[in-house]
This record gives sequence, C-alpha cells and structure tokens, in this order.
Amino acid sequence: MSRVYNFSAGPAILPEEVLREAAEEMLDYQGSGMSVMEMSHRSKVYDGIIKEAEADLRDLMNIPDNYKVLFLQGGASQQFAMIPMNLMKNKKAAYIVTGQWAKKAFQEGQNYGEAVKVASSEDETFSYIPDCSDLDIPEDADYVYICENNTIYGTKYKTLPNTKGHTLVADVSSCFLSEPVDVSKYGIIYGGVQKNIGPAGVVIVIIREDLITEDTLPGTPTMLKYKTHADADSLYNTPPAYGIYVCGKVFKWLKKMGGLSVMKERNEEKAKILYEFLDESKMFKGTVRKEDRSLMNVPFVTGDKDLDAKFVKEAEAAGFVNLKGHRTVGGMRASIYNAMPKEGVEKLVAFMKKFEEEN
Ligand SMILES: *Cc1c(COP(=O)(O)O)cnc(C)c1O
Repeated sequence: MSRVYNFSAGPAILPEEVLREAAEEMLDYQGSGMSVMEMSHRSKVYDGIIKEAEADLRDLMNIPDNYKVLFLQGGASQQFAMIPMNLMKNKKAAYIVTGQWAKKAFQEGQNYGEAVKVASSEDETFSYIPDCSDLDIPEDADYVYICENNTIYGTKYKTLPNTKGHTLVADVSSCFLSEPVDVSKYGIIYGGVQKNIGPAGVVIVIIREDLITEDTLPGTPTMLKYKTHADADSLYNTPPAYGIYVCGKVFKWLKKMGGLSVMKERNEEKAKILYEFLDESKMFKGTVRKEDRSLMNVPFVTGDKDLDAKFVKEAEAAGFVNLKGHRTVGGMRASIYNAMPKEGVEKLVAFMKKFEEEN
C-alpha cells in the first residue's frame, strides 16, 4: 500500500489515523458485531455515535446553546434552495457573489424571491473579495449570503461583511473547522463535509433557533424544512449514518490535535510555505490578491498552458496528485486542508523548485 499526497479540492484528503480506525471497526463496531453501515439509525449504539459527534462539534466550535446542529443530505448545493425556502419571509435577500458557488446560490435564490447582488468580484475572475464594509443592503432583506472561502478561486473573507443588522448566512464548505469562528455572528453556517471534514454525503447546518420556523415558503417539501430535522435531532429519516460516524472521528482527531486555534496555526504555517515560494518564484504565480488568500485552496499558474500541463503530469508521477486547477481558472490548485501534513506541502514546494530549475 502506498498513499499519495492528495491535493484534491473535494472529496479530499482525510486524516490517515481516522481511516485506520474506521478500517479497524469496519466488521465489528465496538462489540456490536456489525459495521456502522449495517446498523439501524434508531439503535442505541448509533444514537451514541450521532450524539457524540454533535457534542464534539459543539465543543470544537464553541457553538452557543441557541443554535441547532443538523446533519443533512443533498450537499451544499441543496442549501442554495433550502435557505431561501426557509428564510425568505420578505421574499428578498442580498447576495455577495465571490465565485461560482456563491453565484449558483444567488441564481437559485432568484427562484424564490428577489435575490439582490450587492457586491461581486466577477470583473476580475473572482480573484479578490470585494469591500463589504458599507454595502447597499435592502432594508427588508431577510439575510445576507456569502461563500466564506471560495474553493475554486482560492479567496477567503478575512473580515465578515457589515450586514447592517441583517442575518448572515455563510457557506463554509471549504474552510469548515480550519480555524476558530464566532458562531454568534451568523444566522446559518453550513457546508458539505467532503472538503475539510469527512466523506461526501453529509452537509452540516448550524442554525440559530429563531430562524427555524413553520413559516416557510408555500410548497416547501417536508424534507427541506429546517424544522423537520431540528425537531427530530437529524433523525427524521435515515441520515447519512456512516458519513456522520466518520465526521465524528474527525472531530475527535481535531480535538486531539489541540482544537481549532492549533489547526489555524498549522494551516497558516502550511499556507505560508506555499505562498512564500509563489511570491519568490519566477515561474509559478499565485492568482489571488494577497490580502484575500485562502489558507485552504491555493491556485497558481505558470502563464503557459503547456508548461502547466507538464507540471501536473510530472507532479502526479512523483506522487502529488489532483493538482490540476479548476477549468475556469486553469493552471494548478493545491488544496491543503486540515488533514494535509506540513511535510506534504514542503515536499510539493521542493518538487516545484526542482521543476522550475529544470524547465
Ligand atoms: C464543493 C462546494 C459546494 C458544492 O458542494 P456539493 O456538496 O457538491 O453540493 C458548495 N460550496 C462550496 C464553497 C464548495 O466548495
């Protein structure tokens, strides 16, 4: 068996320790005589798994008591509809469009009411975060929507927008648990877990309780009401049971590592190694405005398509995989999530240096 350095944007690298533990428990979870995949989600054993996962997440993120944690399905993309269906009481919401995922959410929002684009960075291929200190947010907007870390373009909000008192809704799919956050600043924090937490199939929604109401848009399916899942503690129907179990293991791993402040330091250290090299290299260049650089997703280019392709190919042969950039940006992208060891980034940079010397 040989493991590669996996720089995939998602589904992405998971801590090896977690994978080993899951493998060990595959046939017989803690004396139950069965795999977690095989057990009833209504069983006592599974109840322990999901409750502990939630408790550990609450602990890690310091989630206030007036927020619910929901483990749902449908990916982050389903939230693009679920958010307006549940929150658009005035049929109006403000969207800040900083990339493809924010744009998709904005477009989906238009199906349910007036989605107003209050800022965008599309004019420069989403390579920066617009100034959000004094936006023209409609008085009656039900919420202000952001994508906090833009997976494809590699930008991240370093300060949250001034929502002028409106509820903030954030897609944190690709920066979930990468650093501490003040949950109380948000109405909803949500993300698909397949970027920085666990296997695809689970989306975690952290939602302030007053936003969970019966008063959803007409025609909202039962399964798309936050209240349905909140009232049933994420067990209204069969949840993505195995995925939640793996997420729980990652939460424990994060706690063991020292929690989110330690993860932030580690992530800053890793990102610095790569960004410092990009800043001094004559061949490779970062594509994002420096102040807005993501700690998780690092896009870069050589400026020559053929050279980019050669790099991706040779990197793969050397054990650095999934470095090809998103088709809309081109070039390369290294996603260096929590589970990527510092050594992986150091070795990648050493490989890039060598490639630069030889080409
Ligand atoms: C990957 C991604 C999505 C889409 O997630 P799905 O789970 O595939 O729907 C949405 N937002 C962000 C920021 C992402 O990185």
